[in-house]
Amino acid sequence: MNRAQSWGKADIHIHSNHSDGTASIPQIMDYVQDRTDLDVIAITDHNTIEGALFAKSLEELYDFEVVVGEEVSSREGHILGLFLTEHVPAGMSARDTVAAIEAQGGIAIVAHPFSNQGVFGPFGRNLFADAVNDWAFHALEIYNSLPFLVWANSIAAKMFAGGHGIAATGGSDAHYLEAVGKGFTIFRGSTAEDLRRSILNLETRADSRPQGLSFVWRIARNYRRIRQLQALNHERCKAPCGVQD
Ligand SMILES: [Zn+2]
Ligand SMILES: [Zn+2]
Repeated sequence: MNRAQSWGKADIHIHSNHSDGTASIPQIMDYVQDRTDLDVIAITDHNTIEGALFAKSLEELYDFEVVVGEEVSSREGHILGLFLTEHVPAGMSARDTVAAIEAQGGIAIVAHPFSNQGVFGPFGRNLFADAVNDWAFHALEIYNSLPFLVWANSIAAKMFAGGHGIAATGGSDAHYLEAVGKGFTIFRGSTAEDLRRSILNLETRADSRPQGLSFVWRIARNYRRIRQLQALNHERCKAPCGVQD
């Protein structure tokens, strides 16, 4: 990997079998190493950092860096916490969830903001304007690679284009191996700390790798398994864990 490059690539929204993903942490780590050019990944399971801590413990065996993350089910919708050291509980308000992430020095990102499981929902344009002023989250996920979120992505990108002093990020929201790296965040530098600095400096952008029809097909094929895992993980979700995202 070329560490001298000026822009790095991070997939900061990945699920493992510690929540409702189908892949194990070692499988994800091997896949990222062998099949992607990602510099940084964040494991962001629903309402647990177990898998992310496991991935972090394996980091030195690989050429990329791992960020400990969690996709927290707040009462209003999903919020990604990155650079966490402790688990953030589900079921709090979005505002308190963002505050809990920041209290441990983390980065708070509103995931797929305008999807059904998103904090603002498909019609939440007004709430968005209030939230930008009141909650002080760091970034908005303007690209999420789940195919049914195309419309929600475009609203997020449009809201973002207004310039609100928040960073734009992208992630795959991968629930199975081959989806890892399909969506990503471009940042200045190549390390996890560079990623953090880039988000704080608003020097990130969202991007994607072409998906094609096979991608949609794989999601369909994995859907039943993912739903089963969601049912098994239901105990951890004080608020709805969401379907697939
Ligand atoms: Zn989600
Ligand atoms: Zn997710």
